[in-house]
Amino acid sequence: MITNEYLNRVLADVKQRDPNQPEFLQAVEEVFESLQLVVDKHPEWEKAGLIERFVEPERMVMFRVPWVDDNGVTHVNRGYRVQFNSAIGPYKGGLRFHPSVNLSVIKFLGFEQILKNSLTTLPMGGGKGGSDFDPKGKSDAEIMRFCQSFMTELYRHIGQFTDTPAGDIGVGAREVGYMFGQYKKIVDRFDGGVITGKGLTYGGSLARTEATGYGICYFSDEVLKYNGKSFEGQDVIVSGSGNVAQYCAQKVFQLGGKVIAMSDSKGYIYDPNGINLDVLFDIKQNRRARISVYADEVAGAKYVEGCANIWEVPCNIAMPCASQNEMDEEGAKKVIANGAFAVFEGANMPLTPGAINAVRGAGLLYTPGKASNAGGVATSGLEMSQNSIRMSWSFEEVDEKLHNIMKSIFQACLKASIECGHPGDMMLGANVAGFLKVAEAMMAQGVV
Ligand code: NDP
Repeated sequence: MITNEYLNRVLADVKQRDPNQPEFLQAVEEVFESLQLVVDKHPEWEKAGLIERFVEPERMVMFRVPWVDDNGVTHVNRGYRVQFNSAIGPYKGGLRFHPSVNLSVIKFLGFEQILKNSLTTLPMGGGKGGSDFDPKGKSDAEIMRFCQSFMTELYRHIGQFTDTPAGDIGVGAREVGYMFGQYKKIVDRFDGGVITGKGLTYGGSLARTEATGYGICYFSDEVLKYNGKSFEGQDVIVSGSGNVAQYCAQKVFQLGGKVIAMSDSKGYIYDPNGINLDVLFDIKQNRRARISVYADEVAGAKYVEGCANIWEVPCNIAMPCASQNEMDEEGAKKVIANGAFAVFEGANMPLTPGAINAVRGAGLLYTPGKASNAGGVATSGLEMSQNSIRMSWSFEEVDEKLHNIMKSIFQACLKASIECGHPGDMMLGANVAGFLKVAEAMMAQGVV
Protein backbone atom coordinates (compact mmCIF):
# COMPACT_ATOMS: atom_id res chain seq x y z
CA MET A 1 0.00 0.00 0.00
CA ILE A 2 1.41 3.37 -1.00
CA THR A 3 0.59 6.04 1.57
CA ASN A 4 2.84 8.88 0.39
CA GLU A 5 0.63 11.52 -1.28
CA TYR A 6 3.20 12.65 -3.81
CA LEU A 7 3.87 9.09 -5.01
CA ASN A 8 0.14 8.35 -5.19
CA ARG A 9 -0.44 11.45 -7.28
CA VAL A 10 2.35 10.58 -9.73
CA LEU A 11 1.15 6.97 -9.92
CA ALA A 12 -2.40 8.13 -10.71
CA ASP A 13 -1.01 10.41 -13.46
CA VAL A 14 1.05 7.58 -14.97
CA LYS A 15 -2.00 5.29 -14.93
CA GLN A 16 -4.11 7.94 -16.60
CA ARG A 17 -1.48 8.74 -19.20
CA ASP A 18 -0.56 5.16 -20.08
CA PRO A 19 -3.59 3.01 -19.18
CA ASN A 20 -2.65 0.44 -21.81
CA GLN A 21 0.82 -0.32 -20.48
CA PRO A 22 0.21 -3.00 -17.81
CA GLU A 23 3.82 -4.20 -17.49
CA PHE A 24 5.12 -0.66 -17.14
CA LEU A 25 2.49 0.24 -14.53
CA GLN A 26 3.27 -2.96 -12.61
CA ALA A 27 6.99 -2.09 -12.48
CA VAL A 28 6.34 1.52 -11.41
CA GLU A 29 3.92 0.52 -8.66
CA GLU A 30 6.31 -2.09 -7.28
CA VAL A 31 9.18 0.40 -7.14
CA PHE A 32 7.02 3.14 -5.61
CA GLU A 33 6.02 0.82 -2.76
CA SER A 34 9.68 0.53 -1.80
CA LEU A 35 10.46 4.20 -2.33
CA GLN A 36 7.92 5.73 0.00
CA LEU A 37 10.22 5.51 3.00
CA VAL A 38 12.85 7.66 1.29
CA VAL A 39 10.41 9.97 -0.50
CA ASP A 40 8.86 10.79 2.88
CA LYS A 41 12.27 12.12 3.96
CA HIS A 42 12.85 14.34 0.89
CA PRO A 43 10.07 16.90 0.46
CA GLU A 44 12.36 18.91 -1.89
CA TRP A 45 11.96 16.18 -4.54
CA GLU A 46 8.34 17.13 -5.14
CA LYS A 47 9.19 20.74 -6.03
CA ALA A 48 11.86 19.48 -8.42
CA GLY A 49 9.35 17.13 -10.08
CA LEU A 50 11.86 14.37 -9.47
CA ILE A 51 9.46 11.44 -9.49
CA GLU A 52 7.49 12.74 -12.50
CA ARG A 53 10.76 12.96 -14.41
CA PHE A 54 11.91 9.57 -13.14
CA VAL A 55 8.87 7.78 -14.65
CA GLU A 56 8.94 9.58 -18.00
CA PRO A 57 11.53 8.37 -20.54
CA GLU A 58 13.90 11.03 -21.82
CA ARG A 59 13.28 9.82 -25.36
CA MET A 60 11.37 7.02 -27.11
CA VAL A 61 12.02 6.01 -30.69
CA MET A 62 9.66 3.77 -32.67
CA PHE A 63 10.41 2.81 -36.21
CA ARG A 64 9.51 0.63 -39.18
CA VAL A 65 11.69 -2.44 -39.80
CA PRO A 66 11.00 -3.82 -43.28
CA TRP A 67 12.74 -7.02 -44.37
CA VAL A 68 12.45 -9.63 -47.10
CA ASP A 69 12.19 -13.35 -46.31
CA ASP A 70 13.82 -16.19 -48.25
CA ASN A 71 10.80 -16.46 -50.55
CA GLY A 72 10.99 -12.81 -51.52
CA VAL A 73 8.02 -11.80 -49.37
CA THR A 74 8.28 -8.46 -47.54
CA HIS A 75 7.47 -8.19 -43.83
CA VAL A 76 7.22 -5.12 -41.64
CA ASN A 77 8.00 -5.23 -37.93
CA ARG A 78 8.12 -2.45 -35.38
CA GLY A 79 11.37 -1.40 -33.71
CA TYR A 80 11.74 0.39 -30.37
CA ARG A 81 14.42 2.13 -28.35
CA VAL A 82 13.44 3.71 -25.07
CA GLN A 83 16.18 5.98 -23.70
CA PHE A 84 14.86 6.21 -20.20
CA ASN A 85 17.37 7.93 -17.95
CA SER A 86 20.91 9.21 -18.52
CA ALA A 87 21.51 10.87 -15.14
CA ILE A 88 24.44 8.64 -14.17
CA GLY A 89 25.77 7.61 -17.59
CA PRO A 90 24.92 6.87 -21.23
CA TYR A 91 21.76 4.80 -21.73
CA LYS A 92 22.51 1.09 -21.55
CA GLY A 93 20.23 -1.89 -21.90
CA GLY A 94 19.50 -4.84 -24.14
CA LEU A 95 17.46 -5.41 -27.27
CA ARG A 96 14.66 -7.99 -27.19
CA PHE A 97 13.30 -9.70 -30.31
CA HIS A 98 10.07 -11.49 -29.39
CA PRO A 99 6.47 -11.32 -30.69
CA SER A 100 5.28 -10.09 -27.28
CA VAL A 101 7.39 -6.92 -27.49
CA ASN A 102 5.42 -3.67 -27.33
CA LEU A 103 5.95 -0.23 -25.84
CA SER A 104 4.75 -1.32 -22.40
CA VAL A 105 7.24 -4.19 -22.23
CA ILE A 106 10.15 -2.05 -23.43
CA LYS A 107 9.25 0.75 -21.00
CA PHE A 108 9.04 -1.62 -18.03
CA LEU A 109 12.40 -3.11 -18.95
CA GLY A 110 13.97 0.32 -19.45
CA PHE A 111 12.59 1.54 -16.14
CA GLU A 112 13.97 -1.46 -14.25
CA GLN A 113 17.26 -1.01 -16.07
CA ILE A 114 17.78 2.44 -14.51
CA LEU A 115 17.88 0.94 -11.02
CA LYS A 116 19.78 -2.17 -12.06
CA ASN A 117 22.53 -0.20 -13.77
CA SER A 118 22.79 2.11 -10.80
CA LEU A 119 23.30 -0.91 -8.52
CA THR A 120 26.26 -2.17 -10.58
CA THR A 121 28.27 0.90 -9.41
CA LEU A 122 29.25 1.47 -13.08
CA PRO A 123 28.38 4.74 -14.87
CA MET A 124 25.43 3.52 -16.96
CA GLY A 125 22.00 5.06 -17.46
CA GLY A 126 18.91 3.03 -18.29
CA GLY A 127 17.49 2.11 -21.70
CA LYS A 128 15.98 -0.82 -23.55
CA GLY A 129 14.84 -1.66 -27.05
CA GLY A 130 13.76 -4.38 -29.39
CA SER A 131 11.17 -5.50 -31.86
CA ASP A 132 8.09 -7.69 -32.17
CA PHE A 133 10.06 -9.77 -34.68
CA ASP A 134 10.07 -13.52 -33.93
CA PRO A 135 13.48 -15.07 -34.66
CA LYS A 136 12.08 -18.60 -34.20
CA GLY A 137 12.05 -20.66 -37.38
CA LYS A 138 13.88 -18.00 -39.40
CA SER A 139 16.92 -18.84 -41.50
CA ASP A 140 20.30 -17.25 -40.77
CA ALA A 141 19.90 -15.12 -43.90
CA GLU A 142 16.49 -13.86 -42.72
CA ILE A 143 17.89 -13.05 -39.27
CA MET A 144 20.74 -11.15 -40.92
CA ARG A 145 18.45 -9.12 -43.16
CA PHE A 146 16.20 -8.27 -40.23
CA CYS A 147 19.14 -7.20 -38.03
CA GLN A 148 20.56 -5.07 -40.83
CA SER A 149 17.24 -3.34 -41.39
CA PHE A 150 16.82 -2.78 -37.63
CA MET A 151 20.27 -1.23 -37.34
CA THR A 152 19.78 0.92 -40.44
CA GLU A 153 17.44 3.02 -38.30
CA LEU A 154 18.87 2.43 -34.82
CA TYR A 155 22.44 3.46 -35.70
CA ARG A 156 21.60 7.19 -35.60
CA HIS A 157 20.43 6.96 -31.99
CA ILE A 158 23.34 5.04 -30.43
CA GLY A 159 27.04 5.48 -29.65
CA GLN A 160 29.42 4.70 -26.81
CA PHE A 161 28.74 8.09 -25.18
CA THR A 162 25.00 8.12 -25.97
CA ASP A 163 23.41 4.71 -25.83
CA THR A 164 24.90 1.22 -25.98
CA PRO A 165 22.53 -1.68 -26.63
CA ALA A 166 23.21 -5.36 -25.88
CA GLY A 167 21.35 -8.69 -26.14
CA ASP A 168 18.24 -9.93 -24.35
CA ILE A 169 15.55 -12.48 -25.20
CA GLY A 170 15.96 -13.53 -28.84
CA VAL A 171 19.16 -11.51 -29.27
CA GLY A 172 22.36 -13.48 -28.77
CA ALA A 173 25.86 -13.40 -30.28
CA ARG A 174 24.57 -14.07 -33.81
CA GLU A 175 22.16 -11.13 -33.80
CA VAL A 176 24.65 -8.79 -32.10
CA GLY A 177 27.22 -9.72 -34.75
CA TYR A 178 24.90 -8.87 -37.63
CA MET A 179 23.86 -5.59 -36.01
CA PHE A 180 27.44 -4.57 -35.23
CA GLY A 181 28.47 -5.37 -38.82
CA GLN A 182 25.75 -3.15 -40.23
CA TYR A 183 26.58 -0.33 -37.80
CA LYS A 184 30.25 -0.48 -38.78
CA LYS A 185 29.36 -0.39 -42.45
CA ILE A 186 27.08 2.64 -42.07
CA VAL A 187 29.33 4.80 -39.90
CA ASP A 188 32.56 3.54 -41.47
CA ARG A 189 34.28 3.27 -38.08
CA PHE A 190 35.13 0.40 -35.75
CA ASP A 191 33.31 1.68 -32.66
CA GLY A 192 33.63 -1.43 -30.51
CA GLY A 193 31.90 0.13 -27.50
CA VAL A 194 28.67 0.86 -29.36
CA ILE A 195 27.11 -2.53 -28.58
CA THR A 196 27.98 -5.30 -26.14
CA GLY A 197 27.68 -9.05 -26.26
CA LYS A 198 30.01 -9.07 -29.26
CA GLY A 199 31.93 -12.16 -30.40
CA LEU A 200 35.41 -12.66 -28.96
CA THR A 201 37.18 -12.02 -32.26
CA TYR A 202 35.84 -8.46 -32.57
CA GLY A 203 35.79 -6.91 -29.12
CA GLY A 204 33.60 -9.17 -27.01
CA SER A 205 34.47 -9.99 -23.43
CA LEU A 206 35.24 -13.41 -22.06
CA ALA A 207 32.61 -14.44 -19.49
CA ARG A 208 29.92 -12.10 -20.90
CA THR A 209 27.94 -15.11 -22.09
CA GLU A 210 28.03 -16.65 -18.63
CA ALA A 211 27.79 -13.39 -16.68
CA THR A 212 24.05 -13.00 -16.07
CA GLY A 213 23.52 -16.60 -14.96
CA TYR A 214 26.70 -16.75 -12.88
CA GLY A 215 25.94 -13.37 -11.34
CA ILE A 216 22.47 -14.53 -10.24
CA CYS A 217 24.11 -17.37 -8.33
CA TYR A 218 26.85 -15.19 -6.83
CA PHE A 219 24.20 -12.79 -5.56
CA SER A 220 21.90 -15.60 -4.34
CA ASP A 221 24.86 -17.23 -2.60
CA GLU A 222 25.45 -14.03 -0.60
CA VAL A 223 21.79 -13.98 0.40
CA LEU A 224 21.95 -17.63 1.40
CA LYS A 225 25.12 -17.09 3.46
CA TYR A 226 23.57 -14.09 5.21
CA ASN A 227 20.70 -16.40 6.19
CA GLY A 228 22.98 -19.24 7.29
CA LYS A 229 22.26 -21.41 4.25
CA SER A 230 23.94 -22.49 0.99
CA PHE A 231 23.27 -24.14 -2.38
CA GLU A 232 24.95 -27.33 -1.15
CA GLY A 233 22.61 -30.30 -1.51
CA GLN A 234 19.57 -28.21 -2.54
CA ASP A 235 17.15 -29.25 -5.27
CA VAL A 236 16.72 -26.28 -7.58
CA ILE A 237 14.28 -25.36 -10.36
CA VAL A 238 15.72 -23.04 -13.00
CA SER A 239 12.94 -22.06 -15.40
CA GLY A 240 13.73 -21.14 -18.99
CA SER A 241 16.56 -22.63 -21.00
CA GLY A 242 18.03 -19.61 -22.74
CA ASN A 243 21.26 -17.78 -22.04
CA VAL A 244 20.43 -16.81 -18.48
CA ALA A 245 18.94 -20.14 -17.41
CA GLN A 246 21.76 -22.22 -18.93
CA TYR A 247 24.57 -20.49 -17.05
CA CYS A 248 22.55 -20.06 -13.90
CA ALA A 249 22.07 -23.84 -13.90
CA GLN A 250 25.77 -24.42 -14.54
CA LYS A 251 26.77 -22.28 -11.56
CA VAL A 252 24.15 -23.89 -9.30
CA PHE A 253 25.83 -27.26 -9.95
CA GLN A 254 29.27 -25.72 -9.32
CA LEU A 255 28.02 -24.41 -5.98
CA GLY A 256 26.81 -27.86 -4.94
CA GLY A 257 23.12 -27.61 -5.81
CA LYS A 258 21.18 -29.94 -8.13
CA VAL A 259 19.03 -28.48 -10.93
CA ILE A 260 16.15 -30.90 -11.41
CA ALA A 261 13.81 -28.99 -13.76
CA MET A 262 14.11 -26.48 -16.61
CA SER A 263 11.65 -25.23 -19.26
CA ASP A 264 10.96 -23.44 -22.50
CA SER A 265 7.82 -21.57 -23.50
CA LYS A 266 6.03 -24.85 -24.34
CA GLY A 267 6.77 -27.09 -21.36
CA TYR A 268 9.26 -28.31 -18.80
CA ILE A 269 11.68 -31.20 -18.27
CA TYR A 270 12.20 -32.98 -14.97
CA ASP A 271 15.26 -35.08 -14.30
CA PRO A 272 15.54 -36.47 -10.75
CA ASN A 273 19.24 -37.22 -11.34
CA GLY A 274 19.96 -33.58 -12.10
CA ILE A 275 19.79 -32.02 -15.56
CA ASN A 276 22.69 -33.17 -17.76
CA LEU A 277 23.94 -29.80 -19.01
CA ASP A 278 26.12 -31.26 -21.78
CA VAL A 279 22.96 -32.65 -23.37
CA LEU A 280 20.90 -29.52 -22.67
CA PHE A 281 23.54 -27.13 -24.06
CA ASP A 282 23.84 -29.25 -27.20
CA ILE A 283 20.06 -29.21 -27.71
CA LYS A 284 19.72 -25.46 -27.14
CA GLN A 285 22.99 -24.02 -28.47
CA ASN A 286 23.93 -26.33 -31.34
CA ARG A 287 20.62 -27.75 -32.49
CA ARG A 288 18.37 -24.82 -31.45
CA ALA A 289 15.73 -27.47 -30.67
CA ARG A 290 12.83 -27.63 -28.18
CA ILE A 291 13.60 -28.67 -24.63
CA SER A 292 11.28 -31.70 -24.99
CA VAL A 293 14.09 -33.40 -26.98
CA TYR A 294 15.96 -33.79 -23.67
CA ALA A 295 13.38 -36.27 -22.34
CA ASP A 296 13.67 -38.30 -25.57
CA GLU A 297 17.41 -38.64 -25.09
CA VAL A 298 18.05 -38.91 -21.35
CA ALA A 299 16.85 -41.98 -19.45
CA GLY A 300 14.77 -41.23 -16.37
CA ALA A 301 13.82 -37.72 -17.51
CA LYS A 302 10.28 -36.68 -18.37
CA TYR A 303 8.71 -33.82 -20.34
CA VAL A 304 5.50 -32.09 -19.26
CA GLU A 305 3.48 -29.72 -21.46
CA GLY A 306 2.85 -26.20 -20.18
CA CYS A 307 5.74 -24.06 -18.95
CA ALA A 308 3.86 -22.71 -15.91
CA ASN A 309 3.49 -26.28 -14.60
CA ILE A 310 7.19 -26.30 -13.69
CA TRP A 311 6.30 -24.79 -10.30
CA GLU A 312 4.55 -28.04 -9.31
CA VAL A 313 7.95 -29.77 -9.06
CA PRO A 314 9.02 -29.98 -5.39
CA CYS A 315 12.23 -28.04 -4.80
CA ASN A 316 14.15 -26.16 -2.13
CA ILE A 317 15.00 -23.16 -4.28
CA ALA A 318 13.08 -21.79 -7.30
CA MET A 319 14.95 -19.60 -9.77
CA PRO A 320 12.66 -18.16 -12.49
CA CYS A 321 15.00 -17.25 -15.37
CA ALA A 322 12.68 -17.13 -18.40
CA SER A 323 10.43 -14.08 -18.76
CA GLN A 324 8.19 -11.53 -17.05
CA ASN A 325 5.20 -12.73 -15.03
CA GLU A 326 6.10 -16.39 -15.54
CA MET A 327 5.25 -17.25 -11.91
CA ASP A 328 1.77 -16.16 -10.85
CA GLU A 329 0.20 -16.43 -7.41
CA GLU A 330 -0.97 -19.97 -8.08
CA GLY A 331 2.53 -21.02 -9.10
CA ALA A 332 4.02 -19.33 -6.05
CA LYS A 333 1.58 -21.13 -3.78
CA LYS A 334 2.67 -24.49 -5.24
CA VAL A 335 6.32 -23.63 -4.61
CA ILE A 336 5.50 -22.65 -1.02
CA ALA A 337 3.29 -25.71 -0.39
CA ASN A 338 6.08 -27.99 -1.64
CA GLY A 339 8.37 -26.65 1.06
CA ALA A 340 10.77 -24.39 -0.86
CA PHE A 341 12.62 -21.84 1.28
CA ALA A 342 13.72 -19.39 -1.43
CA VAL A 343 12.65 -17.80 -4.70
CA PHE A 344 15.52 -16.03 -6.42
CA GLU A 345 14.51 -14.11 -9.54
CA GLY A 346 16.79 -14.45 -12.56
CA ALA A 347 14.61 -12.95 -15.28
CA ASN A 348 13.25 -9.40 -15.27
CA MET A 349 10.04 -9.19 -13.19
CA PRO A 350 9.27 -12.94 -13.44
CA LEU A 351 6.85 -12.86 -10.47
CA THR A 352 3.45 -11.21 -10.63
CA PRO A 353 2.63 -8.89 -7.70
CA GLY A 354 0.41 -11.65 -6.28
CA ALA A 355 3.28 -14.12 -6.44
CA ILE A 356 5.68 -11.70 -4.74
CA ASN A 357 3.19 -11.10 -1.93
CA ALA A 358 2.61 -14.83 -1.49
CA VAL A 359 6.33 -15.65 -1.40
CA ARG A 360 7.25 -12.81 0.95
CA GLY A 361 4.16 -13.35 3.06
CA ALA A 362 5.10 -17.00 3.60
CA GLY A 363 8.53 -15.92 4.81
CA LEU A 364 10.58 -17.33 1.92
CA LEU A 365 13.84 -15.66 0.95
CA TYR A 366 13.16 -13.49 -2.10
CA THR A 367 15.49 -11.52 -4.38
CA PRO A 368 14.38 -9.22 -7.22
CA GLY A 369 15.79 -9.64 -10.72
CA LYS A 370 17.01 -6.07 -10.95
CA ALA A 371 19.63 -6.87 -8.30
CA SER A 372 20.37 -10.52 -8.98
CA ASN A 373 20.63 -10.36 -12.78
CA ALA A 374 22.67 -7.14 -12.84
CA GLY A 375 25.83 -9.15 -13.55
CA GLY A 376 24.92 -9.24 -17.24
CA VAL A 377 24.89 -5.51 -17.75
CA ALA A 378 27.83 -5.11 -15.34
CA THR A 379 29.91 -7.37 -17.54
CA SER A 380 28.69 -5.44 -20.58
CA GLY A 381 30.19 -2.43 -18.80
CA LEU A 382 33.43 -4.39 -18.40
CA GLU A 383 33.30 -5.21 -22.13
CA MET A 384 33.12 -1.48 -22.87
CA SER A 385 36.04 -0.83 -20.50
CA GLN A 386 38.14 -3.38 -22.39
CA ASN A 387 37.11 -1.82 -25.72
CA SER A 388 38.18 1.61 -24.44
CA ILE A 389 41.60 0.52 -23.20
CA ARG A 390 42.03 -1.77 -26.24
CA MET A 391 42.84 -4.78 -24.16
CA SER A 392 41.09 -7.96 -23.17
CA TRP A 393 41.06 -9.56 -19.79
CA SER A 394 41.16 -13.32 -19.10
CA PHE A 395 38.01 -15.26 -18.21
CA GLU A 396 39.21 -15.48 -14.61
CA GLU A 397 39.81 -11.71 -14.36
CA VAL A 398 36.34 -10.87 -15.68
CA ASP A 399 34.70 -13.54 -13.55
CA GLU A 400 36.44 -12.23 -10.44
CA LYS A 401 35.35 -8.66 -11.20
CA LEU A 402 31.79 -9.93 -11.77
CA HIS A 403 31.86 -11.83 -8.48
CA ASN A 404 33.04 -8.74 -6.61
CA ILE A 405 30.38 -6.58 -8.26
CA MET A 406 27.65 -9.03 -7.22
CA LYS A 407 28.97 -9.03 -3.65
CA SER A 408 28.97 -5.24 -3.61
CA ILE A 409 25.40 -5.14 -4.97
CA PHE A 410 24.37 -7.45 -2.15
CA GLN A 411 26.12 -5.19 0.39
CA ALA A 412 24.45 -2.07 -1.07
CA CYS A 413 21.00 -3.71 -0.91
CA LEU A 414 21.65 -4.95 2.62
CA LYS A 415 22.83 -1.53 3.81
CA ALA A 416 19.76 0.19 2.33
CA SER A 417 17.45 -2.42 3.84
CA ILE A 418 19.02 -1.87 7.26
CA GLU A 419 18.75 1.92 6.93
CA CYS A 420 15.08 1.53 6.07
CA GLY A 421 14.54 -0.61 9.16
CA HIS A 422 13.97 -3.90 7.30
CA PRO A 423 17.31 -5.74 7.45
CA GLY A 424 17.71 -8.32 4.69
CA ASP A 425 14.70 -7.18 2.61
CA MET A 426 16.38 -7.37 -0.80
CA MET A 427 13.42 -5.96 -2.74
CA LEU A 428 13.33 -2.83 -0.62
CA GLY A 429 17.12 -2.60 -0.53
CA ALA A 430 17.55 -2.91 -4.32
CA ASN A 431 14.91 -0.32 -5.15
CA VAL A 432 16.13 2.19 -2.57
CA ALA A 433 19.89 1.76 -3.16
CA GLY A 434 19.44 1.91 -6.94
CA PHE A 435 17.17 4.93 -6.78
CA LEU A 436 19.13 7.11 -4.33
CA LYS A 437 22.17 7.40 -6.60
CA VAL A 438 20.03 8.32 -9.61
CA ALA A 439 17.98 10.78 -7.54
CA GLU A 440 21.09 12.54 -6.28
CA ALA A 441 22.48 12.86 -9.81
CA MET A 442 19.14 14.11 -11.17
CA MET A 443 18.85 16.72 -8.41
CA ALA A 444 22.42 17.90 -9.03
CA GLN A 445 21.79 18.31 -12.77
CA GLY A 446 18.72 20.51 -12.42
CA VAL A 447 15.40 20.21 -14.21
CA VAL A 448 16.41 18.56 -17.49
P1 NDP B 1 16.76 -16.20 -24.19
O1 NDP B 1 16.07 -15.73 -25.40
O2 NDP B 1 18.16 -16.68 -24.32
O3 NDP B 1 15.92 -17.35 -23.49
C1 NDP B 1 14.62 -17.19 -23.01
C2 NDP B 1 14.16 -18.56 -22.58
O4 NDP B 1 12.96 -18.45 -21.83
C3 NDP B 1 13.86 -19.49 -23.71
O5 NDP B 1 14.25 -20.78 -23.33
C4 NDP B 1 12.33 -19.40 -23.86
O6 NDP B 1 11.74 -20.53 -24.45
C5 NDP B 1 11.97 -19.33 -22.42
N1 NDP B 1 10.66 -18.76 -22.13
C6 NDP B 1 10.09 -17.64 -22.59
N2 NDP B 1 8.91 -17.43 -22.00
C7 NDP B 1 8.77 -18.44 -21.11
C8 NDP B 1 7.79 -18.79 -20.15
N3 NDP B 1 6.71 -18.04 -19.98
N4 NDP B 1 8.01 -19.88 -19.39
C9 NDP B 1 9.10 -20.65 -19.55
N5 NDP B 1 10.05 -20.38 -20.44
C10 NDP B 1 9.88 -19.30 -21.21
O7 NDP B 1 16.67 -14.99 -23.12
P2 NDP B 1 17.63 -14.70 -21.90
O8 NDP B 1 18.01 -15.96 -21.24
O9 NDP B 1 18.68 -13.77 -22.37
O10 NDP B 1 16.68 -13.84 -20.95
C11 NDP B 1 15.84 -14.43 -19.95
C12 NDP B 1 15.41 -13.37 -18.96
O11 NDP B 1 16.56 -12.77 -18.35
C13 NDP B 1 14.62 -12.20 -19.55
O12 NDP B 1 13.71 -11.72 -18.59
C14 NDP B 1 15.70 -11.14 -19.78
O13 NDP B 1 15.18 -9.84 -19.83
C15 NDP B 1 16.54 -11.36 -18.53
N6 NDP B 1 17.90 -10.86 -18.60
C16 NDP B 1 18.77 -11.27 -19.57
C17 NDP B 1 20.07 -10.81 -19.57
C18 NDP B 1 21.09 -11.34 -20.53
O14 NDP B 1 22.28 -11.05 -20.34
N7 NDP B 1 20.72 -12.13 -21.52
C19 NDP B 1 20.53 -9.82 -18.60
C20 NDP B 1 19.57 -9.50 -17.58
C21 NDP B 1 18.30 -9.98 -17.62
P3 NDP B 1 11.43 -20.61 -26.02
O15 NDP B 1 12.75 -21.02 -26.62
O16 NDP B 1 10.39 -21.63 -26.12
O17 NDP B 1 10.98 -19.25 -26.46
